[in-house]
Amino acid sequence: MHNNLPGWEDTIVALASPPGTGAIALIRISGPQSLAIADKLFVSKKISVQRSHTLHVGILQHQGETIDEVVLSLFKSPKSYTGEDLVEISCHGSAYLQQKILEAILANGARPAKPGEFTLRAFMHGKMDLAQAEAVADLIASQSGAAHHAAIYQLRGGFSRELQNIREELIQFSALIELELDFSQEDVEFADRTVLQALVTEAGKKVQRLIDSFQLGNVIKNGIKVAIVGRPNVGKSTLLNALMQEERAIVSEIAGTTRDTIEETLNIKGVIFRFIDTAGIREHTTDVIEQIGIDRSRKAMEAADIILAMAAPEKNMTPEKKKEQGRDKKQTPPQNIAGSLAEVATILQSKSKALLVVNKTDLLSEEERQNIQTAFPEAVFITAKTGEGLSRLSSVLYAQAVAGKIQPEGAIVTNARHVAALQEIQVSLEDILAGLESRLSGDLLALDIRRCLHYLGEITGIVTTEDKLDYIFSKFCIGK
Ligand code: GDP
Repeated sequence: MHNNLPGWEDTIVALASPPGTGAIALIRISGPQSLAIADKLFVSKKISVQRSHTLHVGILQHQGETIDEVVLSLFKSPKSYTGEDLVEISCHGSAYLQQKILEAILANGARPAKPGEFTLRAFMHGKMDLAQAEAVADLIASQSGAAHHAAIYQLRGGFSRELQNIREELIQFSALIELELDFSQEDVEFADRTVLQALVTEAGKKVQRLIDSFQLGNVIKNGIKVAIVGRPNVGKSTLLNALMQEERAIVSEIAGTTRDTIEETLNIKGVIFRFIDTAGIREHTTDVIEQIGIDRSRKAMEAADIILAMAAPEKNMTPEKKKEQGRDKKQTPPQNIAGSLAEVATILQSKSKALLVVNKTDLLSEEERQNIQTAFPEAVFITAKTGEGLSRLSSVLYAQAVAGKIQPEGAIVTNARHVAALQEIQVSLEDILAGLESRLSGDLLALDIRRCLHYLGEITGIVTTEDKLDYIFSKFCIGK
């Protein structure tokens, strides 16, 4: 189908295991010369006459020199990952040996594989469609249970099947409508317009569900960005540390010491959260370095999916000052936390994605706590220092991350390329419906249907171009 790509007849080789030293390394060869190359290097027996799907232990030699004792796995065309003759060599994992074996294979006529080229060949030989091939890359990159789950569903063809069903039904209609065009003199209708209308409406619902699932798909694939903001010393770094249970952010008593932003990831119930500790939002500072940090924290807030606006009582307040400031604490939140609350209040008002976190609850009296709770019913109370309230904070974060996002039964779209095509499909489905309502002529209707089919085919790779394939597969790792 796509067998006109440059270099398609070459035999390719790559290290499939991570570079560096390991117990065992895996080198893959695929293409028409694979067996001949194996015959030359593997001196213990003739590989090309062996049955497919067999393992062979033996010696690799190049130019009379023994390189290693290896295990060779043999997969003959078409029953291999790529659909071509494929040989995998498991060798001892020193970087030196890997290099020696790769050199020997290259010297015998293979060329280095490009990123994703093995999977590209699998796609070209019809072993999988484009959406499935992309799922291979997602599977390798997946960092959480949810991302893994979505990629496996796509890899096993679930997503493609959903699209394929829509496609097949539309193809039938388009054939019937085109048949009508051949009989245009006789004013016949082979394609039942009411059935088409029902079908397109149903397809529209399915496509919309897939488009909507991208909100969750994006979260699953890329994680949720959480910015932690608040005055210096409210305990942002301490919270981050407690969440990560390791000491990476700098914790200090001196105000404004978290100069840069630090990013840490945390997996909550299968969803990845990327926490960014920022320099804080103190408005007036004379320190230039701190000012840079503050600008960064503004940017981090803009980019974040969720803002944790943090407030905390200031513990170094003298009892007199506390008494003086706390005169009307019945009506307003207590004054020793008021400053820091006031600061985050602006964020809470202006950003719907902001969540108030009150830290250092250990320094608050029960009455003070009640007052804050009354003023800010959504507030989450924690004591970052001891870890109290953190599991509730995690639950609230998780709920906020997946809230309002549908959790579909079937496919979850995690790929921006797919969602763009789905949106085009949706537009063309709407055009078909509008055409049916206005009793548009068959030839124009057929055009809309063809446009819809085109975009459906783009996702699975039935319709594609060389540039597009290059782009998609260039994001893979070498050896896959
Ligand atoms: P940041 O500037 O907002 O990052 O604040 P830090 O995390 O550096 O914390 C400032 C100070 O507050 C440190 O001395 C922490 O030990 C202290 N601190 C943090 N969380 C708590 C808490 O829950 N209770 C109390 N009493 N102190 C805390």
